[in-house]
This record gives sequence, C-alpha cells and structure tokens, in this order.
Amino acid sequence: MAEPQKGNLSDTERQVLQVIASGDVQELAQLLASEEVRVNCLDEYGMTPLMHAAYKGKADMCRLLLQHGADVNCNQHEYGYTALMFAGLSGKTDITSMMLDAGAETDLVNSVGRTAAQMAAFVGQHDCVTVINNFFSRARLEYYTQPQGLEREPKLPPTLAGPLHKIIMTTNLNPVKIVMLVKENPVLVDVAALEKCYQVMDLLCEQCVKQQDMNEVLAMKMHYISCVLQKCLTFLQKRDDKLDALVKSLLRGRDSDGFPQYQEKFIRDCIRKFPYCEATLLQQLGNDPTAFSVLTQALTGQMTFVDADYCATCGEKGADKRCSLCKAVTYCSLMCQKLHWFTHKKICRSLQEQDADLEKDTPRLKELKDDESDLVMETANFLQELCMRAEEKVAAAGGCPVELLGCPSNSVTGPPGTQKSFD
Ligand SMILES: [Zn+2]
Ligand SMILES: [Zn+2]
Repeated sequence: MAEPQKGNLSDTERQVLQVIASGDVQELAQLLASEEVRVNCLDEYGMTPLMHAAYKGKADMCRLLLQHGADVNCNQHEYGYTALMFAGLSGKTDITSMMLDAGAETDLVNSVGRTAAQMAAFVGQHDCVTVINNFFSRARLEYYTQPQGLEREPKLPPTLAGPLHKIIMTTNLNPVKIVMLVKENPVLVDVAALEKCYQVMDLLCEQCVKQQDMNEVLAMKMHYISCVLQKCLTFLQKRDDKLDALVKSLLRGRDSDGFPQYQEKFIRDCIRKFPYCEATLLQQLGNDPTAFSVLTQALTGQMTFVDADYCATCGEKGADKRCSLCKAVTYCSLMCQKLHWFTHKKICRSLQEQDADLEKDTPRLKELKDDESDLVMETANFLQELCMRAEEKVAAAGGCPVELLGCPSNSVTGPPGTQKSFD
C-alpha cells in the first residue's frame, strides 16, 4: 500500500472521519474492517483518524484505532501536531495516558517548537500536563527484571515490576499515599522486596541524571520514592506495628495547629539528600511553602491548593467529605478520616472556634487571602519553569486505595461522621 498522502482519501476513509465526528464506535469498527480504509490516512490538513478521535476526546475510538495499527507518532500534520498533542489539548487524561502507553514520544515538537506538555499547559489542561510529565514506560522498568551481564538473578524480581510501576506512575506524591500503595501489595510489604525496589529506584535516578537529555525532575521523583521505600523498610524492621506506625508518624500533627512536623522534616530530608542537588529546589525550602508543596509543584507542575480539595490524610485530589464538626478538613474516604482522627481530634475543637471567629471578620480574611495568592503564584511560576525541562512523562494514578464500606461508628472516641460538601 502506498504512503498516505494528504487529502487523498477514499470515500470510505471520508466516512471514517465523519463517524469519528458524530458516530459511534460500532460504526467505526465496521468501517475499519473494510480493505479500502488505511488506518493512517491523512486528511487535507495532515490529520489521521487517531488525531481526530483524540481531539474529539473519544477514548473508545482511540483504543480501536490503535488496535488497528494507528501510528501514534505520525507527524504529518501541517503544524506538526501529534496525536498526543491533540489528546493534551482535549483535556482527557485517559486518552493522554493511552497515547503514552502506545509509545507516543513526549519530546516531539510542533512547528513552533512546543511539546505536547507545553501545548496542554498553554490551554490550561494541567491534569494532562501532569500525566505527560510523569510518564515512565513499564518497559524501562522491566529491563531490570532480566539478569544483565554476569548477574545470576535480575535486580528486580518480575513479580515486583507491576506494583513498583504503579508507585512510579503516581501523581500524588503524598508520602502517606505512597505508603498506602506499598501496603496495598503484600509482595511489597517485605524487607527483601523493599530493598530490591529502592535499589532499582536509585539506579533509575542515576540513569535519569546521566542520560543525554538529563531529566532532573524525573530523577528527583525516583529519589523521593526510594526514600519513602527505605523509610517503609526501616519501620518494617524496627516497629511491631510496622507500616501503620509509619502512617501515624507521618500524620501526627503538632499540638498548636496540627501541622505534620515529622512529614515535613521527612520530605525536606529527602530533597536535601538528593545526590544531584537541585539548588533552586533547595532555595525554595527556605521559604513559606511546605516541603510537600515545593516537591509537588516541581514534579507535577501543579499547585497543591488551588481548584481542588485535597485529602488531609493521603493528599488525593477531589476529596469531597468534610469533618462534620469543624468543616475545616477534607477527606477522600472514611478510611482516611479514621486514620487522621487520632491527631485531628486534638485541634478539631479549636478549628470549630476559629471558623466561628472568621465568619465575624470576613473582610479582613479576604485581604489576607489576596496577599497569599500572590506569593503562591510567584512560587508556582518559578517552579513551572523548572518543570518545563522535564522530558519523560507518566500516567495518572488510580484513586485512593480505600473502601468506603466499614463506616466508623459515631462513638465518642471515634471520628465524627463526614458530610458531603456542597461548595
Ligand atoms: Zn485520602
Ligand atoms: Zn474536625
């Protein structure tokens, strides 16, 4: 079959594009079965059916086209757009992930030199930017599941590759969340397994630094995950209550305001211990934002406290349940609320009182908020620049590994119920 030429479409191929615009996936499947359809045909602008489906946000059609051999890296578009760029522009994280899993290259640029991540950022599709910036291919990890050179055993037992890859792909860097991801997989809750995993993470970190187009953002992520895994290892060896004790330590807030000091110190230490010191990140640590927000902004390009409520326990985005007493903290699940209660109960009452005071004093609160947001914006812009240098990228994490069953009792010692918030 000849190379597709722009605009040289058969009637059936034109129908394909129409069905992508306004039809359903069954119709598309029927058309693709026809011999007259070249899956990588180009319309007059150099767009393939896959580009059209990605731009229209049709995940099931994208999947079908990929199964039929659509070229995810076709770059014949008149302005050099790729299917990944269209996916990012559409704002659909599932399609963006699908393109990456299918081998989409993240460093291809359009005719004005912009990558897919930069284009998505330009139109405000920040979730897609995060997905692209965090992508790390499973194949790259699986390299370590084969013995290399004179090795008798691989550095990473194949059974650990899946669970470890899931952790690498997480876009929620809250250490509690990462410990939960470890706990979720019995194969990881093991001293020997954790040792192998963190050693591989250290190797990947080194590789990210030494590769030709050094990726310090991804290197930092690998290093950070290695630190959390090493902490899990220490608690497994030294504490009877093991990972539960680690979660509690990470959540325990100081008496005055509930600020989780141990967690803050842990993340600061991780950043400081980064062997390929990123001076700009360290400077940020001196200032107001928490180490966690600095890290998250550097690694995902997202600010931690805009547009969404974050779970006070695991940091998962979109938490929509509030402590029904103080209404000041949000959770993604009842399990997260239960985990947090031992420390939250110490400040819940004073938060209730603060809430009442603030209502009396609204104008002043508004002023304060504006000042704060300026500072936050400045920090974010600075970190955004750092992120632009990221090249390798990752797919979105699943939800919080929690069941909403097993409600906590409303006894005096248990946490209060949560309520859906409507704001
Ligand atoms: Zn949570
Ligand atoms: Zn409360």
